[in-house]
Amino acid sequence: MKPNTTIIGAGIVGVSTAAFLQKAGHDVTVIDRVGPGEGCSFGNAGGVAFGEIMPTVHPRIFRKLPGWLMDPLGPLNIRWRYLPKALPWFLAAARNATPGRVEEIVQARAALGLRVVGDFETVLGDAGRKDLLVYRETLRLYDEESQFSAEAAERETKARLGFPCEIYSGDEAREMEPAIGKQVIRAATHGGWFFVTNPEGVVKALARGVVEKGGKVIADDVRGIVHQDGMVSALTLAGGGRHAVQNLVICAGAYSHLLARQLGEHVLLEAERGYHIVLPDPGVTISRSLTYARTPGAATPMEMGLRLAGTDEFAGLDAEPNYARADALYHVFKKVLPGLRAPDDRATRWMGRRPGTPDSLPVIGRSRTMRNVVYGFGHGHMGLTWGPTTGRLVSEILAGVSPNMDMAPFRVNRF
Ligand SMILES: Cc1cc2nc3c(=O)[nH]c(=O)nc-3n(C[C@H](O)[C@H](O)[C@H](O)COP(=O)(O)OP(=O)(O)OC[C@H]3O[C@@H](n4cnc5c(N)ncnc54)[C@H](O)[C@@H]3O)c2cc1C
Repeated sequence: MKPNTTIIGAGIVGVSTAAFLQKAGHDVTVIDRVGPGEGCSFGNAGGVAFGEIMPTVHPRIFRKLPGWLMDPLGPLNIRWRYLPKALPWFLAAARNATPGRVEEIVQARAALGLRVVGDFETVLGDAGRKDLLVYRETLRLYDEESQFSAEAAERETKARLGFPCEIYSGDEAREMEPAIGKQVIRAATHGGWFFVTNPEGVVKALARGVVEKGGKVIADDVRGIVHQDGMVSALTLAGGGRHAVQNLVICAGAYSHLLARQLGEHVLLEAERGYHIVLPDPGVTISRSLTYARTPGAATPMEMGLRLAGTDEFAGLDAEPNYARADALYHVFKKVLPGLRAPDDRATRWMGRRPGTPDSLPVIGRSRTMRNVVYGFGHGHMGLTWGPTTGRLVSEILAGVSPNMDMAPFRVNRF
């Protein structure tokens, strides 16, 4: 008998998990209330950013916070009415920003990063869509020397752990990408950041591959998890059905803590809401993804146009989007791409909920309360990057194989 595994969530993490489990001989069923790749995985910046080993919250960010928080359209926004709810998360984030914790987090992120490209190639190759991954390094742009020197310690950390950054003058950067403006005085790579040309397309291709090999994708909303004596036996679905479970993997993105809570496990997870604007007619041509040291986010050339994506908003899962934050990305990138054309009526805007943990590490591993449940969620700003690697790790855990890396930093009972 083949083992049978149900995965909740058809984002990049869930479908990658299904793909790796199927390779390992499981019958897989993925359940999602929306189509594959239509949650947070739909609209990210497309960065396969395996060199991004610094946590989202680290000491240098604290110095920038006051300025960011003063600007309602700035890189970080907290809707003040929501703050009391998010306070435990912020306090935990501050506890994780000490130099000692940052070093542990960096090591754990680097261990994931080293596996990313191989695992990405495996799932894309199996789905016949290796063409979606572009092996061209993202360039980080600086228009002030102080921005560049402020990041020296991060570049050293990256180099120490195997992700060295290349450094260029402004003119060298313009030789690579003529659209970059004159005020850019320096550029650097991130130590490993490729990109995909259609993040939703990646997830849909993987899901199609899973279905072609006999897996199932069910469109429904998981309402309840039925369990007894430390084993999950079934899921109750909004459509009225009941889905029997042998093994369960929870990859439900920013909603995963709600499901973990049903199993008696407490996880600090916040929706780190990000935005994008896609400009089908951007007025500039770039051949690689660009980031700009003044603000978190990326400009990525994609099949549907130039996508400007980024910003972080804490407002809970259900608050209305503020699309002015998407337009603000245009004004930021205009500073380094002077030819960028203003959004016209074909521009599209989007908001997505990153599943953020306060230590910038995902939850990957077995439940401590249910013997047949494994978690794969909480990838924050890095879910596209770490999705396939998470899938491989989950398949190893379910096979009883010990992954060849330390999984302790990712355990569910650390919150
Ligand atoms: C603006 C922006 C830019 C980003 N840029 C990058 C980047 O460049 N590189 C990178 O690596 N990452 C990036 N990210 C982060 C990345 O997109 C996320 O980490 C990733 O998409 C999370 O994937 P996921 O599969 O965990 O979640 P999702 O894609 O959200 O999938 C989870 C799925 O679970 C489903 N679900 C939840 N609960 C239930 C339920 N009860 N029943 C049924 N279905 C349920 C949801 O419908 C959803 O489809 C970015 C994010 C944003 C917002």
